Amino acid sequence: MYSFVQDGDTFVVSIDNHQEVVAALMAFCEEQGILAGEISGIGAVNSATLRFLDPATKLYVDKTFDEQMEISSLVGNISEKDGKPYLHLHANFGRRDYTVVGGHLLCCTLNGACELVVRRFHCKIGRRFEPSIGINLYDF
Ligand code: FE
Repeated sequence: MYSFVQDGDTFVVSIDNHQEVVAALMAFCEEQGILAGEISGIGAVNSATLRFLDPATKLYVDKTFDEQMEISSLVGNISEKDGKPYLHLHANFGRRDYTVVGGHLLCCTLNGACELVVRRFHCKIGRRFEPSIGINLYDF
């Protein structure tokens, strides 16, 4: 599903082609016991599902883009919820015509490569649901 090399608390990760990136990252964090940290990366996909939160209604709007795109920027963080890693990921995807779509990343399927850096923190970072906003906020 992935391969990696470790330098202290920094992990350089390559996800295998045709894998779903969020599931692979979740498996990586679980298997390496990473419950706090940050993630950045680049790559290429042929499908991505993004989410937009409408603050007025607190409703999520999800949209899937089935086309070849560059992951021009994937950024996010790792915290802990219910004893498991909790990933909060955002991404921008570059299209064939060089326009970009972006948002909260739910899932995306690799078609090419995905190269990430994961940095582990040693503090405890929880999550708690904030009903006034409709999201799981950091809980320190
Ligand atoms: Fe988000």
